[in-house]
Amino acid sequence: MPLVITKNFGHENSRAIEVYREHGGYETLKKALEMGPGAVINEVKNSGLRGRGGAGFPTGVKWTFLDTKSGNPIYFCVNADESEPGTFKDRHIMNNDPHLLLEGIIISCFAVGSHKAFVYCRGEFHRQIEFMWKAVEEATAAGFIGKNILGSGFDIDIVIHKGAGAYICGEETGLLSSLEGNKGQPRIKPPFPAIKGLYDCPTVVNNVETICAVPWIIENGADAYKAMGTERSPGTKVFCVSGPVKNPNFFEVELGYPLIDLINKEAGGLRDGVELKACIPGGSSMPILTPEEVAVAKMDYEALNAMGTFLGSGGIVVIPKTMSIVSLLRNIANFYAHESCGQCTPCREGSGWVAKILQNIDAGRGRHGDIELLHDLCDNMRGWAHKFHPIQPWLKKDEGMGGGKTICVFSDALAWPVQSYLIKFRHEFEEAIAKANPSAAVPADISESRSVAAAH
Ligand code: SF4
Repeated sequence: MPLVITKNFGHENSRAIEVYREHGGYETLKKALEMGPGAVINEVKNSGLRGRGGAGFPTGVKWTFLDTKSGNPIYFCVNADESEPGTFKDRHIMNNDPHLLLEGIIISCFAVGSHKAFVYCRGEFHRQIEFMWKAVEEATAAGFIGKNILGSGFDIDIVIHKGAGAYICGEETGLLSSLEGNKGQPRIKPPFPAIKGLYDCPTVVNNVETICAVPWIIENGADAYKAMGTERSPGTKVFCVSGPVKNPNFFEVELGYPLIDLINKEAGGLRDGVELKACIPGGSSMPILTPEEVAVAKMDYEALNAMGTFLGSGGIVVIPKTMSIVSLLRNIANFYAHESCGQCTPCREGSGWVAKILQNIDAGRGRHGDIELLHDLCDNMRGWAHKFHPIQPWLKKDEGMGGGKTICVFSDALAWPVQSYLIKFRHEFEEAIAKANPSAAVPADISESRSVAAAH
């Protein structure tokens, strides 16, 4: 399998423009400029490339949604606000190959008719921001960024923007609000950014890894890209594997790759003496998998959806048998309660309440009825899942396809893991609660336990 994203990572001084060019860098840009914008969009569309930030939306299709008739400038934003716990691929791309990202941006801007691009970097990415600025300077000096690049008549300016370190700025409209200098809070959609994005102008927001696949697709063609991966999830993906494995790292493999091989072959298997309890397949907001599910899971969008979870950002977290699922979930809930932007009641109140209940259970202060209360809370926090992912096993049959209780999907992103952990590892929560209440009778009525837990 040819490497698409990480092909230059092993080269000495791979960040330098000379090294990038020695290996064919910026040659694809010349090809793209000759092809013309329409042909570039078609190639990306035909390749089936899907967003690698989490949502998996087809990239070329997203580009065609842009309002090109408004007469307003089109902005191109790259989401480099990588903050999902368990995910560390985009920072390595910017560490190792910033010019690949720049070449992808310039080609993509040419395709969609944008002359101004922003790379929104997570605030903690000090080194990566430095590397990106250096790369912009080098590419500008070489004539790939600026006015009339390579004599094509096309102008492009690229700004590297430093965020302030908020998880929610990884949500595309939160990113745009932050970029405009406002609070990093998501906006109600529609209108979508393709119609009204940055400064109310048509805007594309794409993830770093997504844009880095564009030069390879233009160089080798959509068919070559589609020859990798699965029919509906074509191409390669960079997965991050962390936890008690022998070689925690990031690995580029074809989509559809077996999860068990990522753990046992690529990551070297579990450390000696470690047994597998569970695995998070795509970042901390994704529903968890049991060892039986890990054994058969394929890492593509459809296969994981069919198992009631998601590919997400590709952050695989291996959970050892010795780790308490209650403590793990408490940690995750604390993170989301802290990062909620606070605009929507179900998310702001729900995430804090869920975190408090889990803290109590983990600290030996759990009450009978807490599990049901957590489910109830999560049912009221979820919405979007009904609309887009009706096959999750914990959805009640009569819930229908309604949804959209909150402005963004953040609220769901806490409810999903909570409910999947409660269902798949219920015994651990029950044991913790029983330990805290050795002689207490189980309340017959959920409403009784709800009022008790609310008073915690
Ligand atoms: Fe903010 Fe949460 Fe509402 Fe998203 S769901 S806009 S994070 S309060």
